[in-house]
Amino acid sequence: MRVVQSDAHERHHPKHFLVNGAVQDSPEVPERARRLAQAARAAGHELVAPRAIGRGPAAAVHSPEYLQFLEHIVPRWRRIAGASDEVIPNVHPQGRWPASYPASAVGQAGFHQADTACPISEGTWEAAVASAEIAVTAAQLVAEGAPHAYALCRPPGHHAYTDMAGGFCFLNNCAIAAQWLRDHGHARVAILDIDVHHGNGTQGIFWARGDVLTVSVHADPVRFYPFFWGHAHERGEADGLGCNLNLPLARGTDTRGLLEALDAGVKRIRAFQPDALVLALGLDAHEGDPLKGLAVTTDGFAEIASAIARLDLPTVLIQEGGYLQDALGANLASFLAGFESGRG
Ligand SMILES: [Zn+2]
Repeated sequence: MRVVQSDAHERHHPKHFLVNGAVQDSPEVPERARRLAQAARAAGHELVAPRAIGRGPAAAVHSPEYLQFLEHIVPRWRRIAGASDEVIPNVHPQGRWPASYPASAVGQAGFHQADTACPISEGTWEAAVASAEIAVTAAQLVAEGAPHAYALCRPPGHHAYTDMAGGFCFLNNCAIAAQWLRDHGHARVAILDIDVHHGNGTQGIFWARGDVLTVSVHADPVRFYPFFWGHAHERGEADGLGCNLNLPLARGTDTRGLLEALDAGVKRIRAFQPDALVLALGLDAHEGDPLKGLAVTTDGFAEIASAIARLDLPTVLIQEGGYLQDALGANLASFLAGFESGRG
């Protein structure tokens, strides 16, 4: 399988975030992507560089104010006396709409950053743009006839909304790839998210759309990030009513349990009759992942991949979560091998 990858992500190295109110080191480190690239190379996959795609695909999903904010906030923030190195919000509009768009850097950080897990520093914007380019390049390869391509994206994207970062995510790579496919001859696109966390940003972006189906299998958000989204009753609205399917699983669910939920997701995707599939590939559902949501095994990832591959759709695989632990590289290799063998 072709693996679209670059080293541009190295420029983004978030230092801290708050967990239960305590400052901790961010697990979303450059070493994640290095290990995934090494594992893909060692498994014999061909690594290719992303193409320069310009701003169009990101602008088709994200608001102009938000892109402007991401690109220019760091120097503005640093002009504030005593400000931290990283842009981290300390005020939030808390959904009390209408809220006016503020002129201040601090106010805008609160407006555009959902939580403390998406600090912005020197290089974040460039890394996020490069990550989106990787996703769009993989979508282009599939549009050009490849049965599938894997985008080794970092930073990840599925928690990012049209105008809001969150949970290590800035630009929504899956949404950008899906919208690119929509704009280039694919009338109906399905997004399947198997990251341990609900793909809340992706759900939000396509919430009222009937042309893009969003399906997410994840640890139950009742006691897990992103808490406020990812529940079974969220089904979309207007043209999108019925085009969002959430399949929350009890904490600690194993491979077997995930495969059962996935079966319902696969049936829904089949019924939607999409022209292409975008897969949000989180590897953090693994039993050894430090975020401890689900308990999928390394071999289990191959089974999950085969079940998805049997949809027999042109598929853009996009890296989401999955944090440093001994099995991280093996989990990717297992998934890619299972996907290729499932395609037969
Ligand atoms: Zn995740």
